[in-house]
Amino acid sequence: MKGSCRCGSVQYQFVGKPDNTILCYCKECQLQTGSDKWFGAWIKKDNFKFIEGQPTINSRIGESGSLVNNMFCGQCGTPICGEVTVGNFYSVSINTMEKPELFSPQMAIYTRSAPKWASIPNDIAVFDILPPRSNK
Ligand SMILES: [Zn+2]
Ligand SMILES: [Zn+2]
Repeated sequence: MKGSCRCGSVQYQFVGKPDNTILCYCKECQLQTGSDKWFGAWIKKDNFKFIEGQPTINSRIGESGSLVNNMFCGQCGTPICGEVTVGNFYSVSINTMEKPELFSPQMAIYTRSAPKWASIPNDIAVFDILPPRSNK
């Protein structure tokens, strides 16, 4: 499947199914998206590549304490994905995919950081921080 930022300067494609699809309510994602959450698909790095343009990269330490490289379009500012260095995957913005309707969230994470007015689905797994066995 392919995806692109709003202006089309940066385009990517990936193969296979995402390992997970998450709503992340951490503070960083709120700032990144200007909303209460990030809707991302976890895609192994080997399955993902940029096919047009290159994203601008901004590195930060995630709430889990590990390095996250946020990638966005330097032209239009659309956030495209976060490289989660500890997990060897990208959390790709499902909103940028060519067929976002194929995906539904499987879990909500970092809901302890969610604003009071956030909408959190009640039919998926919800975690204050992360699922117990995960260290991502
Ligand atoms: Zn763009
Ligand atoms: Zn987040």
